[in-house]
Amino acid sequence: MELNTRAVHAGREDLTELGLHAVPIDLSTTYPSRDSHEEANRLERAASGEDLGGSPIYGRVGNPTVARFERALADLEGAASAVAFATGMAALSACLLAVAAQGKRHVVAVRPLYGTSDHLLDSGLLGTDVTWSTAEDLKLNLRDDTGLVIVESPANPTLSEVDIRAIDVDVPVLVDNTFATPVLQRPIELGANIVLHSATKYLGGHGDVLAGVVATTTAWAERLRPIRAITGSVLHPLSSYLLHRGLQTLPLRVRHQSQNAQKLVDRLLANPAVERVYYPGLAECDPQHLVGRQMSGPGAVFAMSVRGGYDAAARVADSVRLITHAVSLGGVDTLIQHPASLTHRPVAADAKPHASVLRISVGLEDPEDLYADLERALRS
Ligand code: PLP
Repeated sequence: MELNTRAVHAGREDLTELGLHAVPIDLSTTYPSRDSHEEANRLERAASGEDLGGSPIYGRVGNPTVARFERALADLEGAASAVAFATGMAALSACLLAVAAQGKRHVVAVRPLYGTSDHLLDSGLLGTDVTWSTAEDLKLNLRDDTGLVIVESPANPTLSEVDIRAIDVDVPVLVDNTFATPVLQRPIELGANIVLHSATKYLGGHGDVLAGVVATTTAWAERLRPIRAITGSVLHPLSSYLLHRGLQTLPLRVRHQSQNAQKLVDRLLANPAVERVYYPGLAECDPQHLVGRQMSGPGAVFAMSVRGGYDAAARVADSVRLITHAVSLGGVDTLIQHPASLTHRPVAADAKPHASVLRISVGLEDPEDLYADLERALRS
């Protein structure tokens, strides 16, 4: 079935049989055990990462409401399985712990990445060792102990893209698909092994859920589940409910927000206060023509550098009225933020975005109202 249909129905296949229409929220932290031998056996299977189904034994081991969201997201990404986490950073941490647990501590990653992802890798906080690479040189930077290649496409904050199909390495490839969502890009179909989302963004879509999720193979899901249970980085069932509901409107939101972004980009390209616009469809940002080939549309986040450097950029961010000056992205309302001071503050100086760059996540408001707000802020 088509993505629009699956977004509405995935993870809800059994509801009619249960006599329900809306997804039930299971808030249990523990579950009654009937037979100690059987429970011990099930716990053993859970410890090896198996998706138990049925009673999860304890809320940190599993939850049926979370499992429904995971099934739905795996379906949309075309993955065998998905594992949800408390945040996107918890999801990335679990992936790094999984490679470290296999004795493969070396990670090759392409910049830019979201600032805290960059910081987590660059600091080696979880015992990993990163080599920063261009997408073209990934293979040259592999070592015997390389456990993971990490790319973000389009990347935060300046929307650079990586040709996922062209990545030709023998180690697992993780693609952060937060900006594109499965509506515009499905990395598993392009050869990636692990797809990561900050579900806080488009999957939730309303700025009221913090979450992360990894869509991947059965083998990787089995590595990640025990790490989630041991480190306690579980997603709350209420958040899962909201995310699962969010998936139903994901295609509509992402496509409409992308159209709005395109309209704003077209207007801003002609604004004399704007030095450069960064947006996947634009020739100078997308020399490989990945929009159309890898992504079915350019998405709803763009960045722009303004004339006048840091002071001018700060003035624009501080002067908007309809748009909110705030970090995060992917919600139904438009947000603007200054990456060099906020989302990418912890990034090494030589890899930090330029001080004149602003990142804008376009929402569902009328694009004329949004442009009027930006245009006035650019004149301030
Ligand atoms: N990946 C990307 C591309 C992000 O933009 C973010 C957060 O902004 C994250 C990962 C981290 O997600 P979270 O904030 O849900 O931990």
